[in-house]
Amino acid sequence: MAEPLYRARDLSKTYHMGEVDVNALRKVDLDVQTGEILAILGPSGSGKSTLLHMLGGMDTPTTGTVHFRDEELTKLDPAGLTLFRRRHVGFVFQFYNLIPSLTALENVAMATEIAPAPNNPAEMVDLVGLGERGSHVPAQLSGGELQRVAIARAVAMAPDVLLCDEPTGALDYRTGILVLDVLRKVNREMGTTLILITH
Ligand code: ADP
Repeated sequence: MAEPLYRARDLSKTYHMGEVDVNALRKVDLDVQTGEILAILGPSGSGKSTLLHMLGGMDTPTTGTVHFRDEELTKLDPAGLTLFRRRHVGFVFQFYNLIPSLTALENVAMATEIAPAPNNPAEMVDLVGLGERGSHVPAQLSGGELQRVAIARAVAMAPDVLLCDEPTGALDYRTGILVLDVLRKVNREMGTTLILITH
């Protein structure tokens, strides 16, 4: 079998809250294959976001290791992690964090300015099915459309992996399904590995 995209071993994270230790993660082993779609399920507070943050290089574990291909993330300093995120990771959150004064297309294009080898912003807006709406500002778009812009923005950075933290959490059921369809299309057409937290 090919080398996994991610290999996490013995991953634990403890938060110290005054007198109390919160074990957010306990000894997690995880392999993620390139091109896979991985859904992380579990009750609130079970450590899903904590795990995603470790994989995205947004936080570091208390013990254990994370490899991305042959690079050990848990050895990188903050500057190294910033570079890792910029080169390899796209993020999609429950809320869209778009810039209200910019059009959909401009929101996507702006993100690509710091990417080493970005995808074409207009093509990404097309990919998420918003070709007609590129000139609209966020206030003119629905929740599902805003999330699709946020997905286009993440994919425009040409990431190897898209980490999605409850991407449908603020949407009604049917709109959520549409957004998941768009994520599946990104996986299929761009080959982007998907790791998503959902409930
Ligand atoms: P989930 O995403 O499954 O809801 P989280 O990963 O957000 O779970 O949280 C797991 C546990 O760690 C929870 O008990 C949460 O309160 C705690 N936790 C998460 N982040 C922090 C933090 N920055 N400081 C202290 N405790 C935290």
